[in-house]
Amino acid sequence: MAVGGAGVAMERSSEQHLATARNLSTMKSAVASGLGLLPDFPFAYDQWLTHSDGLGTIPSEHHGAEVAVVGAGISGVVAAYELARLGLRPVVYEAGRMGGRLRSERFGAADDVVAELGGMRFPTSGRSFYHYVNQLGLETRPFPNPLTEAAGTTVVDLAGEPLFARTIDDLPAVFREVSDAWDSALEQGARFSEISEAIGLADTDAIKSIWNDLVVQWDDRTFYDFIATSDSFSKLSFRHREIFGQVGFGTGGWDSDFPNTMLEILRVVMSGFEDNQNLIVGGAEQVVRQLWDHPLENPAHWPAGTSLSSLHSGAPRTGVASLMRSDDGTIEVTDRHGNVRNVPAVLSTTQSWLLTTNIDVDETLFSQPHWMALDRTRYMQSSKTFVMVDRPFWNDIDPSTGLGVMGMTLTDRNTRGTYLFDNGPDRPAVMCLTYAWNSDAMKVLPKSAHERARLALDTLEKIYPDVDIASHVIGEPITVSWETDPNFLGAFKGALPGHYRYNRRMFSHFLQDDFPAAERGIFLAGDDVSWTPGWADGAVATALNAVWGITRHFGGSTHPENPGPGDQWEQLAPLQLPE
Ligand SMILES: Cc1cc2nc3c(=O)[nH]c(=O)nc-3n(C[C@H](O)[C@H](O)[C@H](O)COP(=O)(O)OP(=O)(O)OC[C@H]3O[C@@H](n4cnc5c(N)ncnc54)[C@H](O)[C@@H]3O)c2cc1C
Repeated sequence: MAVGGAGVAMERSSEQHLATARNLSTMKSAVASGLGLLPDFPFAYDQWLTHSDGLGTIPSEHHGAEVAVVGAGISGVVAAYELARLGLRPVVYEAGRMGGRLRSERFGAADDVVAELGGMRFPTSGRSFYHYVNQLGLETRPFPNPLTEAAGTTVVDLAGEPLFARTIDDLPAVFREVSDAWDSALEQGARFSEISEAIGLADTDAIKSIWNDLVVQWDDRTFYDFIATSDSFSKLSFRHREIFGQVGFGTGGWDSDFPNTMLEILRVVMSGFEDNQNLIVGGAEQVVRQLWDHPLENPAHWPAGTSLSSLHSGAPRTGVASLMRSDDGTIEVTDRHGNVRNVPAVLSTTQSWLLTTNIDVDETLFSQPHWMALDRTRYMQSSKTFVMVDRPFWNDIDPSTGLGVMGMTLTDRNTRGTYLFDNGPDRPAVMCLTYAWNSDAMKVLPKSAHERARLALDTLEKIYPDVDIASHVIGEPITVSWETDPNFLGAFKGALPGHYRYNRRMFSHFLQDDFPAAERGIFLAGDDVSWTPGWADGAVATALNAVWGITRHFGGSTHPENPGPGDQWEQLAPLQLPE
């Protein structure tokens, strides 16, 4: 889920607080510059990807064998790309649009101006995702998060009072108190400095020892519980807690995540996902589309110049309608046009609910504990509404403040987060009028794009009575509610207390040696298999796990000098809680 970090910190009222702040900021840089390790399974995926010995080999008799890949989002296309490099023939199926939840919608009248309907800000600590961004040579630049240089002016509007700021120092002291309380809570409740240092040093023993204790301590408890029972927040007023929930820090809107398991929040903060975020110039969907067209690097079996596109005559197949075990042990894949193919392995990357609601899946393909995990997955809802505007008018300076007339806006009103995308002074710009989650997203569910845009503009008018925002709008509004799309049913996983065991079952499903034959050959990857849902990097990690599992399924192996996630499982495996 997309939560913000403790980016607003930072002036302390005592020596002790100053020391803690310096310590935390050093630790955050350590995490950001570290190996992008995740605490549950601190495997260095980016090192596996970049090692000169490659991801492994598959016996030549299996070269050209088909693997069905359900879904052409980032995890499906990454997995297909790597499987093709290993010499297999991925057959990719997509029910909707290539890119999945990396969807960059173009404003009709201006082809290169996009609205990022799904993933839009990518933390640089997400090294596996950036492996592909960099390989494709895509341009990135800092995302205009609140109180960052990239945002210019930020406006925090709470309880009817808009506050203009460039940095935290421009905001009243209460914001620092809230930020300090969050830092202290992390320190006291989750040994933040210690685990951050271990992540920065890639000290996997220390990461595991601290994290395993935290898993036991926090699996059953919510984010709200963490805040409400922390010494630092309980000393402060309820208003402090409200401010924390309503505007958050870094990316905004933390109260939407209050019911989630605290483990999910800790992973995001500890992995540095809330800091140093970039956008992808021209849209994140390009990562998927360009990887599709990109010639396979050093492929086994396939001639130079082969790409996923060329293996598919240009386009993926349509959606999958059913997955059934055949008598000969293969898996029968039937698409929505009734075309059937039998394949030795299938990788499903769709939201897991779709395996019970949209695809007819042979029940024997998964164990009952796995079905339990797939079905119990809980999704967050999310809505975004965008408009194109004639120019980045928000940069006009208000002479009375010396700041922009409008800024990136965090508010307790229904818009919650308004983000401003500047494409240059003489170019149309983009406003994400509102980005909201859960209850706030549900409030606009029945409304049309125009109604949503009107509602958001009315709200912004209350915050900016002197700015005629509507006069700058050109073109049609673009909106999304992921939960109404039958190919998604929700934005991303938001695990609840007690879900750790389910997450572990799904994440470890690529290890199939101990499975009965009836359950082998079907693999899972994607956002909701990941430990860090709502972040594309986590989805990529699960795709790479599946590549390891499928390689093994075909009797292949990794190079001894470059062990993969399955080879390192015993040393790094996520803690197993008693069932
Ligand atoms: C609103 C929102 C904001 C986000 N913000 C960020 C962010 O700022 N930073 C970040 O890193 N991440 C963010 N994410 C998360 C990121 O977008 C996801 O982690 C990532 O895109 C998931 O990729 P995936 O391949 O796992 O799944 P998907 O992209 O969902 O791909 C699965 C594909 O399967 C297809 N499919 C469904 N049913 C079938 C079928 N029957 N047959 C064939 N295909 C089927 C779907 O159409 C879809 O294309 C955000 C997501 C959302 C929704």
